[in-house]
Formats: sequence, C-alpha cells, structure tokens
Amino acid sequence: MPVIKLGTHLTEQLAAPLFISSFMIIVYAWAFSGPVTAAVLTFLCAMISVYLALSVKEPSLLLQVLVYAAFFNGLVFYLYKIQKITNDKIIEKEKKTEEIHLTDEELAKKNVLKKALEQKITRFLGLQKFSDELKNIPQLQQAAKIIVREIYRVFGKADDCLLYLVNESEQGLYLVASTRADEGIVIKEKEASIFDEWVMKRSQAIMIEDVLNDFRFSTESEKMPPNMRSLCASPLVTENKVLGVVRINSSKQAVFNADDLRLLDVISGLGAVTLRNLLLYARMEELAIRDSLTGLYVNRYFQERLSEEIARAFLDKTSFSLILLDIDFFKRYNDEYGHSAGDLVLRNISALISRCVEPSDIVARYGGEEFIVLLPNRKKKEAVLFAEKIRTEIEKNKFMLRRAEGRVTASIGVATFPDEGRTKEEIVWTVDKKMYKAKSLGRNQVYSR
Ligand code: GH3
Ligand code: MG
Ligand code: MG
Repeated sequence: MPVIKLGTHLTEQLAAPLFISSFMIIVYAWAFSGPVTAAVLTFLCAMISVYLALSVKEPSLLLQVLVYAAFFNGLVFYLYKIQKITNDKIIEKEKKTEEIHLTDEELAKKNVLKKALEQKITRFLGLQKFSDELKNIPQLQQAAKIIVREIYRVFGKADDCLLYLVNESEQGLYLVASTRADEGIVIKEKEASIFDEWVMKRSQAIMIEDVLNDFRFSTESEKMPPNMRSLCASPLVTENKVLGVVRINSSKQAVFNADDLRLLDVISGLGAVTLRNLLLYARMEELAIRDSLTGLYVNRYFQERLSEEIARAFLDKTSFSLILLDIDFFKRYNDEYGHSAGDLVLRNISALISRCVEPSDIVARYGGEEFIVLLPNRKKKEAVLFAEKIRTEIEKNKFMLRRAEGRVTASIGVATFPDEGRTKEEIVWTVDKKMYKAKSLGRNQVYSR
C-alpha cells in the first residue's frame, strides 16, 4: 500500500484545503443530489482524512480529522433534519392548501344551496300571501288576473303569462286573463295554442325549450307569436277536472327548467281551487236568475235590471222600450195536448225570442206564458218593428204536437221610457195595459199607441 510521506509543514498546509473542499463537496452534493449522496461523500471525505492522518502519523491531525468528521456528520445530520422538517412542512402546507380548496368548493356549493333555499323561502312566503289573497276574491275575472300577475311576478323571466278557461259547451279554451312584459302590446292570442290544447286534453303540464324544434309538435315559425319561443304550461285541475290552462312564454329558447314547471304546477293548483269555487258560485247565481223551463231570466232579476236601466237612461237622458208578449189561447193547448206539450211550446217560443234579440237586450219569463223584453236605447219606432218581427216569426213558427202540426200566435204591447212611464211601476203598468189592448182588439197583433 503506497504511503505518502509528507512533512509536518506540508500536512498542515494540506489540512485546511482538504476540509474546505470536503465541506464544499458535501454542501454541493446535498444541494444537487440530496442527503444520502452527501452522507456517502462525508464518509468518503472522512476516510480520506483518516487515511492522510494515518499516513503522516500526526496525532494532532488525526484529532483534527476526527473533530471535522464529527462536525461534518453533525452537519449532515442537522441538514437532513432541516430538510425533513422543511419537506414535512411543504407536505403539510400542500395538505392545508388542498383542504382550503375543498372548503372553498364546499362553501361555494353551500352558498348556491343557501341562495336556492332563500329563493324557495321567498317563493313560499309569496305563495302563502297569494293563497291568502285569493281567498278573498269575489269575482272570477279578478281572481284570474291575480293568478297571472302572481305567476308573472314569481317567474320574473317570462315575457308573458296567459290563463285560459275551458268552454264546456264547445270543449275549447277561451282567454280570461293575461299579463306581459310590455302591457302596451295587445294580446292577440285570444285563441289557445296547440300547446294549451295538448295540456287541456291530457291534463298534463308541459315544458318546451324551443317551440320550433319540439318532436311532439309540428309548428310553423311564421304562425308562432314572436314572444313564444320557449314555454311552460300547466292545467288548472281540481277534483280530476280540467278547468283551464295557464301558460308562461319567453321569446328566448330554453328559459324554463323542471323546477319552474313544478312551481307553475303548484300555483296552478292553488289557483284552480279558487277558480272552481268562483265558477260554481257564478253557476249557482246564474241558476238562481234563470227560469228552469225556458232558460230565460226570471222576473225578479228582470225587475232589478229594469231599475238599473231606468237609472241609467234617466242620467244619460236616453230612452228604452219594453215589450210584453202573451201567447194567445194558451190554455186551449194545455187542455188539448196536455201540460208537457204546453211546456214544449213555451220552450220553443223562448228560443225563438232569444234568437231575435241583440246581446244587450234582456229577455225574461214574466209569468206563465208571458214574456217581457227590455230593449236598451231603442225608441218606440224601432221597438214596434222588433215586436212586429217577433209576432210574425211566432205566427210562422210550426211545431209538432202529438204528430200534429201546431202553431201559436201572440199579442204584444210596446211601451217606451220616459214618454210612457218614468218609474218602473208606471212603465210596466203601461206595457201590460197595451198588451191587453192587443188582446181585446183581436189578438195576434202589436199594440203600441
Ligand atoms: P189569452 O191569453 O189569449 O187570453 O188566453 P190564455 O188561454 O193564454 O189565457 P190565460 O191567461 O187564461 O191562460 C194561460 C195559461 O197558460 C194557463 C196555464 O194553464 C198556462 N200556463 C201557465 N204557465 C204554464 C206552464 O209553465 N206550462 C204550461 N204547459 N202551461 C202554463
Ligand atoms: Mg197570460
Ligand atoms: Mg195567454
């Protein structure tokens, strides 16, 4: 084994650079390759130093070598510890950052949920208020208006809201109330759309993202209103009966979602109960003022309307006429053909009169076989012409009684406000007198003088 023979002088010169270079090597090794390489190199450097110390046989150098070796090992151990602590801290920091990210995400999700919940609470409170408000509405039109306004308010994103009711006689829908973003626009959709008809027939709510591209409907863009690109529609149902349809539209595509459809369904349910009650009430009122045999107004209702008409004509300084019609020799029909055949004649004549009048005229069954008609804004001459028309129509009118052809005639009196009566009693008394005059003059005629 070669032994380097070095003098004390050289050894001392060698020691300092040896330690410095060893130190540098270890530091760089640590920096570039990590603590393991540094530890190996520390060991090697220590071995070289021991070898040198043994070679030069200098005990003081050996001691120095041992001290430096201990120092390097201590340094390596210390640096290793520091790096471990730093690494641990970095890992810990990364974990914490990860946790912060997760918490942020969780927070964002919770914020979304909170907002949705707040929105739901606001909607719920709004619905409660709406339901309370509906309880006090006495009139159908008014209730329908409140329903569309509420739906429009709740959704906010709809361009308009329309409410249709079922016309039971025609099995169609007619518009009752509507509201839209620009109140100035006239609603042209008096007739229900194919979507509303679909909802009515199936008693099922529907949401359409794009009316021009829905597989269930074939629509032509030019026939669709511009504000109807997407929609939600729900039936107004109570006790399994569809009363109508409520629809919200938007001019943009895919504006509504499944939540909106559910909410519309809830509001429709609330609205339907009120509408049903008001419809029943209106029907009951109608029944109370209609005669069950002829369907004409009863005399009590007629008297009320007559009072109103007198007040109106008095204020407006206009006139109106009354005609009183009595079927001639009606007792004979009853005696000859029976009471139910007589009823048939009464129904027949009622229908005939109803066909002849204007919508603003009021026809009532005045008594057994007597009918009275109020002709607003019609003076004597027009009223006489009208009475004459009815008289001839009745005269021409044929009906079958026990397989035999039957006819009746009528005697009619005509009186005009205010010339022939300024109060209800006066004008009714006058027209009655004139009708009896027509009878006494031979029946089947109009008396107006
Ligand atoms: P005229 O008026 O030409 O003097 O003779 P009339 O026979 O019509 O006169 P009257 O007033 O004496 O008879 C009216 C009859 O109308 C009496 C009644 O039998 C009949 N009548 C009244 N109400 C009804 C009803 O609801 N159904 C039927 N079938 N007959 C009725
Ligand atoms: Mg009579
Ligand atoms: Mg009669």
